[in-house]
Amino acid sequence: MLPINEVFETIQGEACMTGTPSVFLRLQACPVGCPWCDTKHTWALDPARQVAVADMLAKTDDADTWAAMEVDELLATVQAFRARHVVITGGEPALYDLVPLTTLLIAHSYSVQIETSGTHPIRVHPDTWVTVSPKLDMPGGLPVLPEALARANEVKHPVGKPADVERLLGLDLGRVPRSLIWLQPISQSPKATALCVDEATRHGWRVSIQTHKFLGVR
Ligand code: SF4
Repeated sequence: MLPINEVFETIQGEACMTGTPSVFLRLQACPVGCPWCDTKHTWALDPARQVAVADMLAKTDDADTWAAMEVDELLATVQAFRARHVVITGGEPALYDLVPLTTLLIAHSYSVQIETSGTHPIRVHPDTWVTVSPKLDMPGGLPVLPEALARANEVKHPVGKPADVERLLGLDLGRVPRSLIWLQPISQSPKATALCVDEATRHGWRVSIQTHKFLGVR
């Protein structure tokens, strides 16, 4: 059983998979505590906030309610949408063993991506595309794990100030091609954007733009 906050179809707006029609599965719970997190409603896994699957699927706001779902139930839910790419996000989805879910989705010809902070071991099918967004020195006090960075297919790093880039440079990213290291300006601020463009140019990285926000979709 996995705790699901919401399921919705949109395009993937960030990094390598930008523009890909996707079904997003948002899992509940995250202990990382990023101050600028835009999904704080996913942080707590409060038993009192558990709802029926139908109620979770019907909600239209950023509520902290969640529903427990089996993997075959999740597959059937995904199959009700048209997109063939599934993004497992959170919250922190790596809190959970995602091997059964990713294996089932891939067996049904879906491409699968996970977005994780890198603070937990990543348990997914080997063909899963892993996007690590390393959350360094956050209030939750969790280190970014070398094994998570070693599993990353791409790294997407939120940047608001020069120290954020310095922290990224302190990580061993040797297995990730430079062209798959993305700097993403926090909140699209002009200052952060200019910094990302400058540092991506300097290091041979790329700038990830949250294109879904510019398009006005989720
Ligand atoms: S890891 Fe993600 S969900 Fe968790 S606090 Fe940070 S931004 Fe929010």
